[in-house]
Amino acid sequence: MTDYDVLVIGGGPGGLAAAVSAKKEGAGVLLIEREARLGGILKQCIHDGFGLLRFGEKLTGPEYVERFEEEFHKLSISYEVQTFVTSVRKTEKGFYVYAVNAKGVREYRTKAMVLATGCRERTAKQVFIHGTRPAGVFTAGTAQHFVNLMGQMPARRCVILGSGDIGLIMARRLTLEGAKVLGVYEVKPVPSGLTRNLVQCLEDYDIPLFLSHTVTRVFGTGRLTGVEIAGVDERMRPIPGTERYVECDTLILSVGLIPENEMAESLGVPLDIRTKGPICDNRFMTEADGVFTCGNATHVNDLVDYVSESGEIAGRAAASYKKRTGQESEKGRVMMDADASLQYLVPQKLNLGSDLGKVILYFRSSRVLTEGTLTVAVDGQKIFARKYQNLKPPEMERLEIDFTGQCLTKESRVLVSIAEGGGI
Ligand SMILES: Cc1cc2nc3c(=O)[nH]c(=O)nc-3n(C[C@H](O)[C@H](O)[C@H](O)COP(=O)(O)OP(=O)(O)OC[C@H]3O[C@@H](n4cnc5c(N)ncnc54)[C@H](O)[C@@H]3O)c2cc1C
Repeated sequence: MTDYDVLVIGGGPGGLAAAVSAKKEGAGVLLIEREARLGGILKQCIHDGFGLLRFGEKLTGPEYVERFEEEFHKLSISYEVQTFVTSVRKTEKGFYVYAVNAKGVREYRTKAMVLATGCRERTAKQVFIHGTRPAGVFTAGTAQHFVNLMGQMPARRCVILGSGDIGLIMARRLTLEGAKVLGVYEVKPVPSGLTRNLVQCLEDYDIPLFLSHTVTRVFGTGRLTGVEIAGVDERMRPIPGTERYVECDTLILSVGLIPENEMAESLGVPLDIRTKGPICDNRFMTEADGVFTCGNATHVNDLVDYVSESGEIAGRAAASYKKRTGQESEKGRVMMDADASLQYLVPQKLNLGSDLGKVILYFRSSRVLTEGTLTVAVDGQKIFARKYQNLKPPEMERLEIDFTGQCLTKESRVLVSIAEGGGI
């Protein structure tokens, strides 16, 4: 059994950034990835648009991840691919990590770990579509895997349910490969994907978007032959009498992503019901000492630049992780409450043992606001305010707040909220 300072689970952009930053801090690092190649979901994202913030360039997914992989290999970081982490056990001597690969069951020991396991797509079962179980119903990511990695076309005439980014990107991709995309149907009255994807993937290709509509039934025995579409009311319930039949051979689901956190749950790490990822502090440490989180495992990011940023912070903090000093545990952590005007806030806590200084916050507004003001208050005193234009739930915001000079204690009450309008 080999001992490590930091063990990273997941070799996507989050895990690669975490491993690189931990190694640069002098830690002994091992990265474990279940697939044959590093790169995570970016391996199949051959469209461009990655890295605009970090590199000021429009890169494809593989190009973006290649830059991190180069650095990863230059630093000679140890890694294992085709190795699936199945469980983790915490002991006095550190974490015991168990994984399976062609050599059998493997055991590793580490002082700290970074969970960079990404997220998985919601399936048809999770959105309650009635009918038979024919072939031809795919999640958007699976369809993307078929087309971009395996060179196989899964569709000729298709309907897309959900206007998430992956669905929009696949609407364009399938059109470019010769399929007829009959429409994208979204149950909500507003689209779920980024504005740039709505324009570049639907409008530019004359693919219709139907808001407040859903798929209620699928038909077909061997292969899908059609779907039933219905309009929905304001509570997203199908409206009787609005049903219509659409003939198609494929239904693509783009109905949301869920952070993958089986490892965190097995360690008893509490999850945030809003993000579905672990509750963490400004160093991306979860509620379990020595367990860090980053990327899409923490919350679903729309830009990979922020995934890499969180990986870097988590990796650096994991490298410097030692048992908390008495002083740190005495100072503890303070909760940052986000009221209902925010869909969510990450991190949820501030670690008072660390030198707080500038803290990066990621948040989503819970509703569309043409003008809004975000404020941070400590014990009822406003310490920060910023005006925003065009806040939208699908578009995550990043914010840096300087907490230098704020005398926070465990008892402090930090509240983050967004008010309509631009008054500060
Ligand atoms: C279709 C699509 C299009 C996108 N388009 C854009 C875009 O245009 N621009 C942009 O900036 N961002 C885009 N994104 C978002 C960006 O790709 C993601 O935010 C980013 O890839 C998430 O990185 P990650 O490392 O957190 O997770 P992932 O890339 O999902 O990596 C997680 C890795 O963990 C591994 N893993 C999980 N569990 C285990 C285990 N138990 N043992 C071992 N390994 C494990 C997985 O195999 C995977 O390789 C897009 C995402 C998708 C899906």
